[in-house]
Amino acid sequence: GSTIGIIGGGQLGRMLAMAAARLGYRTVVLEPQADCPAAQVANRQITAAYDDAAALAELAAASAVVTYEFENVPVVSATALAAKVPVYPPARALEVSQDRLAEKNFLNGIGIPTADYCPVDNDGELTAALKKFNGSGILKTRRMGYDGKGQRVFRNMETGGFAGTCEAMGNVPLILESFVAFEREISVIAARGLGGGLAAYDPAENVHRNGILHTSTLPAAIRPETAAVAQAAAAKILTALDYVGIIGVEFFVLADGSLLANEMAPRVHNSGHWTEAAATASQFEQHIRAVAGLPLGSPARHSDCVMENLIGDDILRVPALLAEPDLMLHLYGKAEARPGRKMGHFTRVSRRA
Ligand code: ATP
Ligand code: MG
Ligand code: MG
Repeated sequence: GSTIGIIGGGQLGRMLAMAAARLGYRTVVLEPQADCPAAQVANRQITAAYDDAAALAELAAASAVVTYEFENVPVVSATALAAKVPVYPPARALEVSQDRLAEKNFLNGIGIPTADYCPVDNDGELTAALKKFNGSGILKTRRMGYDGKGQRVFRNMETGGFAGTCEAMGNVPLILESFVAFEREISVIAARGLGGGLAAYDPAENVHRNGILHTSTLPAAIRPETAAVAQAAAAKILTALDYVGIIGVEFFVLADGSLLANEMAPRVHNSGHWTEAAATASQFEQHIRAVAGLPLGSPARHSDCVMENLIGDDILRVPALLAEPDLMLHLYGKAEARPGRKMGHFTRVSRRA
């Protein structure tokens, strides 16, 4: 079989490499950190920075197609690669999802509503923006945030004392979002194939702990119409970006069942890990199928399930988890269990009648 290039060597790259192997492909991973989770299962690692020109040339030469496992792949790297080899998802998807302002402009531009938002570059702009949002909101770094990092919450009509906030946030471009009183959070994992075909999984209901995804539950406690709206929004995004591969789109569900999009990730997504245990084709297989130009698999869900992340010391639960029936365990091969580090996940499956 031919070789698929993967930029990024974390657990998502690892699971992509496993799915690629199962479909008969070889994989080569570009990742600066040696013995990374993905390199433990890929055929080969190019150990270099994501923007190393020689490494990118080597990756292009070795690969029939290149994909990636994280949204902060330098756009210049994706563009340089794309001159030599197909790169999926397209670089435009990276551009849009790397900057929360560009992302929200894009979503609203194609008719997908988000929370109100306002770019903030200094304490004066923050004061003005908070006034506009009646003193509450979430201030986020526009770039590089994940697991709730780079965020600060303002509540209860705060009207002053903002001096130094932007400096404390690192003097980087920021965005203030209005605070959404959501009833629950859901996400849709969806794929678009090389021929334009679409496949969306059932929405997952997500609960976060300390800013990190804790559980994803299927089915989500939402009406079928709400699920359909979320899936249609994901499909609209995929088509608008001429996308190939898996995308993850997060939504807030309001009390009346309406949705606001929160953010999107141009890659396989933590809230889609349940698919390996309860769907015919996992998100990882689906992504490999899409970027390799194969027909998409079925996203049909055969079981109800709850996926839970193993963070840091949660790894000590492994012996007890192994004793449970109807539980699929997936560990990432990380030697050291640091606080907040994603070590693995498991999915409890309950078959439907
Ligand atoms: P991820 O790890 O999912 O990439 P992130 O660091 O990019 O997370 P967000 O998804 O933007 O951050 O926010 C993290 C969580 O904070 C959300 O899942 C939600 O629970 C809460 N949150 C974010 N924005 C808002 C908002 N505007 N109103 C209310 N809650 C919010
Ligand atoms: Mg995010
Ligand atoms: Mg998020």
